[in-house]
Formats: sequence, structure tokens, C-alpha cells
Amino acid sequence: MKRIASLMLVLMLVLGITGCGQAQTQEAKLDGTYEGTGVGKGGNIVVDLTIKNNKISDIAVKEEHETEGLSDAMNIITNDMIETNSLDVDSVSGATLTSAGFKTAVKDAFSKTGAEPSVLVSSGKVEKEKRESEYTADVIVIGAGGAGMTAAITAADNGASVIVLEKMPMQGGNTLLSGGEYAAPGNWLQVKEGIEDSNDLFYNDILTGGDNENDPKLVRVLADNALAGATWLKDEIGMEFEAYLLFFGGHSVKRSLVPINATGYEMSKKLTAKLNEKNIPLHKNTKATELIQDSDGKVVGVKATYDDQTITYNANKGVVLATGGFGANIDMRTKYNPKMDEKILSTNSVGSTGDGITMAENIGAQLVDMEYIQTYPTCDTQSGALLYVGDVRMEGRSILVNKEGKRFVEELERRDVISNAVTEQTGGVSYMFWDESAMEDSGVAVTHESEYNGLLARKQIVKADTIEEAAKFFDIDADELKKTVDNYNQYAKDGEDLEFHKRGELVPFGEGPYYIMVSKPAVHHTMGGVKINTDAQVIDANGNEIKGLFAAGEVTGDIHGTNRLGSDAIADITVFGRIAGQNVAK
Ligand code: ADP
Repeated sequence: MKRIASLMLVLMLVLGITGCGQAQTQEAKLDGTYEGTGVGKGGNIVVDLTIKNNKISDIAVKEEHETEGLSDAMNIITNDMIETNSLDVDSVSGATLTSAGFKTAVKDAFSKTGAEPSVLVSSGKVEKEKRESEYTADVIVIGAGGAGMTAAITAADNGASVIVLEKMPMQGGNTLLSGGEYAAPGNWLQVKEGIEDSNDLFYNDILTGGDNENDPKLVRVLADNALAGATWLKDEIGMEFEAYLLFFGGHSVKRSLVPINATGYEMSKKLTAKLNEKNIPLHKNTKATELIQDSDGKVVGVKATYDDQTITYNANKGVVLATGGFGANIDMRTKYNPKMDEKILSTNSVGSTGDGITMAENIGAQLVDMEYIQTYPTCDTQSGALLYVGDVRMEGRSILVNKEGKRFVEELERRDVISNAVTEQTGGVSYMFWDESAMEDSGVAVTHESEYNGLLARKQIVKADTIEEAAKFFDIDADELKKTVDNYNQYAKDGEDLEFHKRGELVPFGEGPYYIMVSKPAVHHTMGGVKINTDAQVIDANGNEIKGLFAAGEVTGDIHGTNRLGSDAIADITVFGRIAGQNVAK
């Protein structure tokens, strides 16, 4: 009956029968509010779709657990669907899983009308915002991640007019996707907790963590200005921080501030609010493609593309490159480090394609440390996203096993060592195993609830009463896994891990339920990039500064050497973003 009704409706719409009683009855059948469900990055997305006069009139999200900041993708898709009166609209680049889950939810809701989506009469393409072919400002900032927004605000504070270009539909870049932690020696929480720290201690940690391949002058600037940067974020930008500090690997003391909810969203959100407050235009969907130089080689503007349009942005004072790293660009990764091929996913925003490095290289900039690419060992096998639920490992409370049910590496080794070991296992994945008491003590299922639910929904994690049951879910050798757990418990009892000499206290596994999470390494941070001096000026192949060109953030190299320590990137982008902003405005 339902199919017949929908067929009749299609016929009537095709034949343009409107206004007669019959058609109105059929249209009224399509009109109404329908609920639909899809699975996004963080689990279920539930929407209410309202259709009025055969047109999509509203899509209300009733439930969602998506990454804050990326959930804006649902607003963009909603606007596009309403504007075009079609379910067939583009996904939002950079938010693939959220877009897919949201579109599935809307389609599921529409299916409840009993009609085919083709009965909706499309009202054409999404109208893009109109743009001029040329703009002029004192300063053009390329990239609206943490470094770019910081530089833009600082340049404006120093009297410059500024335009920010962002190629993605949403700002935030890798900064938004990160945990947002900020290493700041001498910070207010350290003072409160009586933790002794100094700029020198931080300076030495950065150099040691980078195997002394860093430029000591840049490290000095970072170490000496990190606290001032954190204070600026707190007092001027209004960023809020949790009341606890984190102890990241490679640091001598606990010094890392944690933004509210332990995500980079807080920083991205507050920096965006400040841009708006200062009326700094943010041109989204605008990809910088080329730096423009005058006859003396000074950088005086940027060529960019917006939709099919080419736009010229003139910069009276200068340009700041803040385009982030190249972790999402496989060709560029393998060019500099052949091991970083397509088998390795990326935790990065899809926008991290090294555009700024290429644009700068094209006008003679010096590139440094390009081969140093950091992988994070336990990431989503589908999206490459860093899995914060896996932080149970950093609490020393989980083991990593392979398909054969055996451990294969010390679980608290350096990120690169674990990553390399995982790559050699069956399927190139590892299975993280832990028990209920580790789950409760670490609190990861609560702190990262939406990620945990998403992993459950996408069958990337299993919770089971017995070890056998958990192993079976992933087709892991259950007998071997039980032996591995027994051995581990014996090592815990004896106080020594005879196989891998795991550091820290060994806590035996107890009662179920048990958890197993599948994961694999993914590219996390590219340490290399353009060479800058301590004023954030870009340096050419002969060691001279390129006039009018500044850079800050992951686009730069030589600050972290071979290896960036956790929570140093946010300090870096803030410190050098501010320096670039001050100097470009001069
Ligand atoms: P950082 O941490 O150094 O600020 P992010 O990755 O957070 O780096 O931000 C870099 C931003 O630059 C991202 O939002 C990215 O989409 C943007 N971007 C990259 N390439 C371009 C480009 N060619 N034009 C405009 N924006 C770009």
C-alpha cells in the first residue's frame, strides 16, 4: 500500500498535478515530521525532519555525540538540504564520518514518508557567498588553525587590518582535533601544587626530546615565552582550563595545562570568537595557491581560489603562513620519508597537506627536518583519528597483543617504536586489552564517552564478560590470549615483566568485563617545514629572510627536532603565532 501511494505521488508530481483535492491529500501524506537515525563518529545521530508543502523545511538534531567544532558540519548540510530541497548534498570536507552519519539519519527519516527522495523537487545548486576578485589588507594570514588565528588577532591588536584565509568549510585545523594541552613552565597550577619548574628545564626537555636536532635559538624563544602565551590565552582570549595538569612523556615535570573538556575545541572556539569580536574577516573555502612577490622579492600578496574563482589578496605589510603540516598528504610524506606511505593513516585534518610549505618552497624558502614525521601508535583503523580511550595504556593498565594473542612490544615505549612494531603484526593492527578495574580507574569511558560509544557502534571495541568472548569478537587466538594474560599477571606478582620489561608499576588483570580495542598507527605530526628565525620571518636557501613573509605553527621546522613532545605544539603555535602577528604588523 505504501509503495503504491508513493508511486502515485511521484506520478502526480511528475505530471505537475497540484491544487486538486487528490494531490493535496497525497502531499499532505508527505508533509509531517519524521525521526531518523544514523551512526556518526561518536555514535547515534537522531534527527527530526520536517516537510511542509513537499519541501524540506527543518532538520532538528535530537541526539548527537560528535566532536565539538566538527558538529558544525550538520548545520552546513542542513542549510544545503533546505536550500536545494534535496537529500543529495555534498559531505563537509574534514568531517566525513559526521557528515555520513547525519545524511544517513536524514535519509532514514525521509524513508518514513514512504516516498522516494526523487519526489523532492530540487531547487538547484547551493548558492555560494559572493566574492570580489581582489581584496587588500595590511596583513593576509593563510590558515585558520591555532597559529593563524593567534597571528591574526595579534596583528590586529598591533594596528593592522587583517584578512584570514581558510581552505576548509570550517576553521580549527589540527588544533581543533588535538587534546589542546599546553606545556607551560611556571604556570599557575604548578605554583598551586608546589611543582618546581623553569624555562631552562623546559628548554632542555624540548632539545632532548628532539634528539638535539632542534634549532636551540628557536627552542629558547619557545621555552621563554610559553608561560606568557598561556596567560594570554587565559586572560585575553578567555580560554578556560581544567584545574589539573597532565604529565606528558619526555617532560621532566608535570607542566601541561588542559583546556576545558580536554579538547582543542576550546581554543578554536575562543580564538574564533575573538576574530569575530575584532571584525577580522575569515574567508572560508578559500585556498591559497601562490605567494605574490614584487620586483624586490618582497611578498606582497596571495593568490587564492574560491569555488571556480581566482582571487588576489594584496598585503600592504606582509603575509603569515599558518597552514599547518603535511600529515594528510601521502605523496609529500613519502617524498621525504618513504616509510610513511598509504598504509599509514593520519590523525590530521584533511586540510594538512603542506600547501604553505610548497608555496614557500616555490619562492625559494629553506625547508628543514622534512623527514621527521611522528606517528601515534593507537589510532582508529577506519579514520586514523587518535583514540583517546586508548589513554588507559598511559595509565599502565593495558597490554597490546596481536591476532595471535601475543604481546609484541613494551606498551610504554616511545611512539615510534610501538608504531613500527604494530606495522609488522598480522593486518598491521594491534589489539589493546584491559579489564573493568582499569576502565574504572582510568575513567576513559566517561571522559571520552562519545568516542567510546562511537567505537562500540562501529565495532572497533568490544566489552565482554570473558576473555574468550572478547577474543572471539576480533578473531584473536583466545587460548593464547588467556596464556598471555596469565603470564602478565605472574609478572605483576613477581614485580618484573620478563618479556618486555614494561616500566612503571605492573597491575594484574582481574575480573571481567574485559575490553579489546583494535587500533593502528597514524601520522600525527610533521616536525619539518619552513625555516624561520626568532622573529618568525621565513628564511631562504641562502639564509636570508624573505621580506614580507612570516610563518608560525606546524608549517615551520627545526623547533621540535626529530620528535615533538606531547603538549608542546599548542605552546609552539601560540608563542610563534604571537611573534609573527607582532612583526608582520610593523
Ligand atoms: P597550526 O597548529 O600550525 O595552527 P592547524 O592544522 O591547526 O595548524 O591549522 C592550519 C590551517 O590551515 C587548517 O585549518 C588548514 O585547513 C588551513 N590551510 C591549509 N592549507 C591552506 C591553504 N592553502 N589555504 C588556506 N588555508 C589552508
